Amino acid sequence: MSRPENVTSFKALQQWKAIPQQYRDKLVRNVFCGNCGGAVEIIDYSIKEEKYALLLTGKCRTCGRPVARVVENE
Ligand SMILES: [Zn+2]
Repeated sequence: MSRPENVTSFKALQQWKAIPQQYRDKLVRNVFCGNCGGAVEIIDYSIKEEKYALLLTGKCRTCGRPVARVVENE
C-alpha cells in the first residue's frame, strides 16, 4: 500500500508543532510566490519530512498557485 505524497506524516506534524507558534505563523506568512513576485501566505499546506528540514507545500493565498517552503531543522 502506498501513502499519498501530499499527506502530512505524524512525525512531520510533531516536528512542525515543536516549532513555537509565533515562529510558525511567521513562516506560513512569508513564503515566496514566483507568480506574485513576493512574500505571500501559504494555505492548504501539507508538511513533509526531508532529511534535515521540513517541507511545506501548499497554495499561494493570493493567486492559488502552488508554493513551497523549506523549514530547516536545527
Ligand atoms: Zn501567488
